[in-house]
Formats: sequence, structure tokens, C-alpha cells
Amino acid sequence: MTKSVITYLNENREILLQRLYEFLKIPSVSTDRAYKEDVKNAAMFVIDYLNELGFNHVEKIATSKHPLVFAEYNEAGEEAQTVLFYGHYDVQPVDPIEEWLSDPFIPEIRDGRIYARGASDDKGQVFMHLAVFEAYMKTKGKLPVNVKICIEGEEEIGSENLYSVLQQNKEKFAADFVVISDSGMVAKNQPTILYGLKGFTGLEVTVKGPDQDLHSGLYGGAVRNPVMALTQILASMKNEDEIITVDGFYDDVKPLSQQERELISKVKGEDYRTTTGVKETVSEKGYTVKEHTMARPTFEINGIYGGYQGEGTKTIIPATATAKITCRLVPGQDPVHIQQLLTNHIEKVTPTGVEIDVKQEKLSFKAYMVEPDHPLIQKAAICYEKAFEKETVFVRMGGSIPVVEWLDSLYDIPIILLGFGTPEDRLHSPNESFPLDSFDKGMKTIAYYWNEVGIV
Ligand SMILES: [Zn+2]
Repeated sequence: MTKSVITYLNENREILLQRLYEFLKIPSVSTDRAYKEDVKNAAMFVIDYLNELGFNHVEKIATSKHPLVFAEYNEAGEEAQTVLFYGHYDVQPVDPIEEWLSDPFIPEIRDGRIYARGASDDKGQVFMHLAVFEAYMKTKGKLPVNVKICIEGEEEIGSENLYSVLQQNKEKFAADFVVISDSGMVAKNQPTILYGLKGFTGLEVTVKGPDQDLHSGLYGGAVRNPVMALTQILASMKNEDEIITVDGFYDDVKPLSQQERELISKVKGEDYRTTTGVKETVSEKGYTVKEHTMARPTFEINGIYGGYQGEGTKTIIPATATAKITCRLVPGQDPVHIQQLLTNHIEKVTPTGVEIDVKQEKLSFKAYMVEPDHPLIQKAAICYEKAFEKETVFVRMGGSIPVVEWLDSLYDIPIILLGFGTPEDRLHSPNESFPLDSFDKGMKTIAYYWNEVGIV
């Protein structure tokens, strides 16, 4: 039973908040060398807390930049599952500082929100887990699950060393499942299970024509224009129905089940016309906008350049033209294979008279998904509902979280994303904040969850 745990959290709320403020006060900006000591201090905050909680082993793993905190608790019993909890204690820079209404490193409560850098991303959410562990230890003397902790200090700079640390210590971090609280809910007080993320790949294509820009009056009619050739190539890759026309692109895409279509239809989505200013939305033929953004692959041209960009006219045939292309992928699609298909297509449709150079993006990863009816997901949904007193919605996201892909590729175990942020949190921006409501109900959700998945 979790009654005493919840009572502990309620009765100690003020003390816990004060301790969270101490964490938030440390300016652990990982990208800026000037804060190196502060980043270390934030790691120490986590280490001290875990030691105090009575974790069996707490360790600071040094990397070439910022340390990673590893800890282990193994007294839940042999039958108990082991969860790997991932989070990060580093934060984004605060610039532009003049736009903050209060000091980013002096937490302040306004209108039911904690304002501070890292309040939502991710110190606030990491802290909630530590506080729930505390509540269990103080009231039950033990945790219902065996726990491994991986809290890094480099998330905001691309987790430079995380993958190699995990790879070199694969056994050490091994667990039955993963819990991450570094994401959000679709709306305030709307319990949300994020059960899928898209994969990612991309490439850059350069079309090369003459050795240098040419006079269009002298050479127009004799030489293929690289900008024209590039736009012809690009136009052949997706049609007006938003269907990607690259051979084999959809071959490995898992079809969207009826169950998922129903889940997606229940999500009250963003009104894109209001938030983006477009007059009309588009989506892949046969799919709704929500289905396309959440669960179908996309192809985007992110940038295109070539030829004269200055004022007035310059009558040339440009020597080159370049486009940057990225795709968001869904489960089943292999990013390296997709890069190859895109490259094959480009080579096939390139007109004569120009050469192409295709650079394949190195940062590629597969999509991630846990089945929404997986017991660990269903239990999470029940715990959210109990804490927030509202029905949980299930969503997949168009974005990607690299750590999820790495943990998935290394361990192939369920990864449960228990996010408590809200769309108003302003992550990475001035005036980042986190609702006290999420703080309270989030800790309850976590407390219920350990009880559901563990042995008490
Ligand atoms: Zn984060």
C-alpha cells in the first residue's frame, strides 16, 4: 500500500520543495566551460542524495567532459524487477537573460509554477524521483523495485559520452525496463503516455554543373542549370498527396492498427492553423494530420541554396545547388537503408549534364515504440489516472530522443516515458517553469507506479 508514502510526500512537501530549490540554484550549464564546477556540484547534489537514501552503491563516472552518476539499489528482493532510471542534471544556458522575470537560478513561485532554469527540463523531474525514493525509504524502509540510476550531465550538449559509457558498462546498467521522466504531457493536468518516438535520418545533395557561374546569355541553352536540376530531383521525391515517391520507402513501415487509430483520435491535438499561421493543413492521403505527425514517416527539405541571392538580377547559370533533406521514420524502417533508398532515387532521376554529390547524415536512429497494451504501459496509465483523476491519453511523438534509441539498441527492453512537463514550460527558453500541480501529482504517479510494478 502506498498510503503512508503519499502521506509522507504531503507532509514533507515544503522541505522537499526547499531541497529542490537547492538543486535548481546550481547553474549546471553543461555547454559553457565557465560552469564546469557548478556542473560537478549538481552531480554531487545527486550523489549526496542517493547516499543519504541508502543506495547500495553510488558512483561518479568520469567522462572527458561532465560526470555521470551511477547508483544501484538491490534490496527489493530477488523476485523484484530492476528498473533503470535515466535523467539529466545539466541545463541549457539562460540567454537572453534580460527576458527572465526572475533570476533563473533563484527559484520563484508565481501563479502555481516554479520558475527556474531546469525546473522542468530535467532537474525538477529527476528530483521528483529522488523524493519518492526518500518517501519509500522513510516509510517502508525499502523500495518496491531494484533500481539502477543513470543521471548524466551532458544531455543538453548531445549526450556526448553517454553511449560509450553505456556500451563499456553494459552489464552494470542492465535492467528489466527503463523509466525516463524528461518529457511532457499534451496539456496541463492531462495524463499522457508517450509510447512511441520517430527515428531520423537525412542527407545533403549537391548538384554540380559548370566549373563556375556562367553568363546566361552566352551559355543558356547549352548547359544544364543545377538549380533547375535540383528542384526537379526534389519534386520527384514527394507528391501532392504528401506521399513519398521513393522506391521502397514504405516497404518496412508497420501498418497502423485500428486500435492505434482509435487511441490517436482521442488525443485533443494542437490546432495547427492557429499555432503556425497556415491557412490549411495537409497530411498523407488516407491519414489524418494527427496520424501523420505521430505515426507515419515524413520527408522534409530543410534548406536549399544555390545561385545568386543578392539584390536585383544577376544573369547567371549557377555552378552548383544544394539541398538538405531529413526524414522522420517509424518502427520497421532502418535509417541506413532509407538513406540508401533516397540516394538510389536521386541517382536514378538526376538529369544528364550535371553531377551529384550525396552526403549521408551521420546522426541517424531508428524509431522507438512500446506496444500501448504492454503491461508496464497499462500500469503507468492507471497510476497517472489515479494521481491526476483524469483519463490517460496515449500519444506517439514526431520527434526523437537519442538516449531512448541507444538504450533500445543496447538492451532491447521496454522504455517507459513518464513525463510530467506541460506545453507552457518553456524548456530551453527564458522563464522556464514547472507547475506545482505536476510536482505533486507527478510524485504520486511515481509512487503508485513503483508499487504497481514492484513488490511491497
Ligand atoms: Zn531534458
